[in-house]
Amino acid sequence: MTLQLRVYVPEHPLIKHWLSVARDVNTPSVLFKSAMGELGRWLAYEAVRSWLPTIDTQVQTPITECPATFVDPQVPMGIVPIMRAGLVLLDEVQKVVPLASVYHLGLVRNEASLEPSCYLNKLPEQFAPETRIAILEPMLATGGSIMMAMKEITSRGVKPDLIRIISIVAAPPALRQLSENYPGLEIYTAIIDEGLNSKGYIVPGLGDAGDRAFGT
Ligand code: URA
Repeated sequence: MTLQLRVYVPEHPLIKHWLSVARDVNTPSVLFKSAMGELGRWLAYEAVRSWLPTIDTQVQTPITECPATFVDPQVPMGIVPIMRAGLVLLDEVQKVVPLASVYHLGLVRNEASLEPSCYLNKLPEQFAPETRIAILEPMLATGGSIMMAMKEITSRGVKPDLIRIISIVAAPPALRQLSENYPGLEIYTAIIDEGLNSKGYIVPGLGDAGDRAFGT
């Protein structure tokens, strides 16, 4: 079987609503942040459907014994927010996967070359086998940051098919690079936009997600 990158854009009125709120240039910072959080939570809910490890067992209800399924606490799960903008999704995604550890990755892109560099890396030297990782990167634009994050994570032992990327707006250049390098990877996003402008911003996009969320 040939593996292919899969990009999921869940068709849901609440995702459309919160994306429109986030896109609107007149949305104040505090509302922008909560709209992004809402999107992060809905997308995380979809993203973990085939990713969360479960165990089947039995429970005793007040009436009788019946089959039961729980999230398996033994299988390691991690969330990697790519700073700054990934932090905007973190609180709400943690509500969906409260057992996951959080490994911060600070990447900044040079505004002229658009190349990323890493200023903080809290990833462990090696991940345990079967670790699941959810990467939070709201804007998949040129692909520079997400490719750097994927390299750092997979070189520490995480299999690409156990990684889920939670993004809000994705653009073709980033998707193309991920597809060429990581077949089997799954991406969950609120929308795929048409492209980038000359400064590397997604069009129509929502502007600089970090600046808008943090009011800078
Ligand atoms: N990062 C952002 O915050 N916005 C874009 O449009 C592209 C990269």
